[in-house]
Amino acid sequence: MADRYQQFTKTPVGKFVVPKLGLPNPATLRRYRPGQPALEGPALLGAAPGGRLEKTVKAQLAAAGIEVLAAPADRHAALVFDATGVKDPAQLREVYRFFHPVIRKIGSCGRVVVLGTPPELAEGRERIAQRALEGFVRSVGKELKRGATAQLVYVAEGAEEASESTLRFLLSAKSAFVDAQVIRVGTHLKTAPVPANWEKPLEGKVALVTGASRGIGAAIAETLARDGAHVVALDIPAQGGDLSTVANRVGGSALQLDITAADAPEKLAGYLTKRHGGVDVVVHNAGITRDKTLGNMTEAGWDAVLTVNLAAQLAVNDTLLGDKVLNENGRIVGVSSIAGIAGNVGQTNYGTSKAGVIGMVNVGAPQLAEYGGTINAVAPGFIETKMTAAVPLFIREAGRRLSSLGQGGLPVDVAETIAWYANPASAAVNGNVVRVCGQALLGA
Ligand code: NAD
Repeated sequence: MADRYQQFTKTPVGKFVVPKLGLPNPATLRRYRPGQPALEGPALLGAAPGGRLEKTVKAQLAAAGIEVLAAPADRHAALVFDATGVKDPAQLREVYRFFHPVIRKIGSCGRVVVLGTPPELAEGRERIAQRALEGFVRSVGKELKRGATAQLVYVAEGAEEASESTLRFLLSAKSAFVDAQVIRVGTHLKTAPVPANWEKPLEGKVALVTGASRGIGAAIAETLARDGAHVVALDIPAQGGDLSTVANRVGGSALQLDITAADAPEKLAGYLTKRHGGVDVVVHNAGITRDKTLGNMTEAGWDAVLTVNLAAQLAVNDTLLGDKVLNENGRIVGVSSIAGIAGNVGQTNYGTSKAGVIGMVNVGAPQLAEYGGTINAVAPGFIETKMTAAVPLFIREAGRRLSSLGQGGLPVDVAETIAWYANPASAAVNGNVVRVCGQALLGA
């Protein structure tokens, strides 16, 4: 689904005018279809001397059916570099040496993945060098064209085997709108089960999705169901009709509940225990906006947003964890926003609530690691939904174009990122906040 400007760029007139005027020319992003190969072409794998990940990554890529090259070819679908051997800023030159000759030889919608050691787990000069990788990846992301993306994955020592689900996600078309992100694997938990079937990793699992009757929530329900989960789709009673449609479409169940009701956590816990014996994945997607500049905002407008977007989610988590309704290796996923990172005019309430979701992840990660699960969040940027279609044209266009990928994302892009968190093989992915924003300049 291309926006109207993007459609224009593909017309004969657009093809002539756009390059002449130096206008943005957003690529058509490749999106995942079941049965698609893990990567549309070979990956070039390199490592700084002394890297601890190269061997494992090579085996993981081969297991995913990816052709791994040790020497450059004419075109690469992905460039993967193990930078864990970089122990001193002087050795950052190894990163330059690997990428410089091949960076122009990356295919459309290609992938750059740099692997490092979490700086906070390193010391002295190694810590400085590892931290420096962030600037490299974020800059490469801005240079890449034709829908290609760059990511940095910090893998804790001992978590080498547990990074497979993350590599598969980032190399595949599932991560189409995730760009220039820094992901940490294994900083809390180091082992992860390998799913019997990578196409259906959620087989036999139960996933709760709040706000599932439309928009991003409906896409999350569809994607988790595609991956094999039984989805409990939750929304307010007023959305009952649409909710049933979504639940039926994904072969799940519909639960009409206002998550802000005082007894909502108890009701939810009771429902999940009675019907399913517990829940494996909880996605806090329900969210509202009540936009007004601070001086014009009523206390009710402030409270409504903070209650739906943050307080209700904390209350649900407390009950699901306290009553052990969340199953072992369970998942909690929050939906933040780049407004929670960068702030936004007219959204002091919303920005506060969405930054609070990041706080929820920070505080929850060690708790969940102890409990035997994970908590992470996505922070969507400009996503094409009914909500963003109502934004005034000029702001809408700015939201789309002021990013490395030059376009808005689709609800499915947010959903795919959540499905990666939900995958049982992502047990070592805990405490992350990943933006799904095409490297938006906002808050970058
Ligand atoms: P949407 O308004 O289309 O959907 C939100 C859903 O949440 C609705 O179905 C609504 O009925 C439900 N909901 C609201 N209050 C509820 C309550 N008390 N109990 C149960 N359900 C409730 O919004 P969307 O665009 O699909 O956004 C989904 C999430 O993504 C939200 O958390 C939003 O803040 C976030 N987000 C969206 C964008 C974007 O560009 N659309 C960007 C960043 C973040």
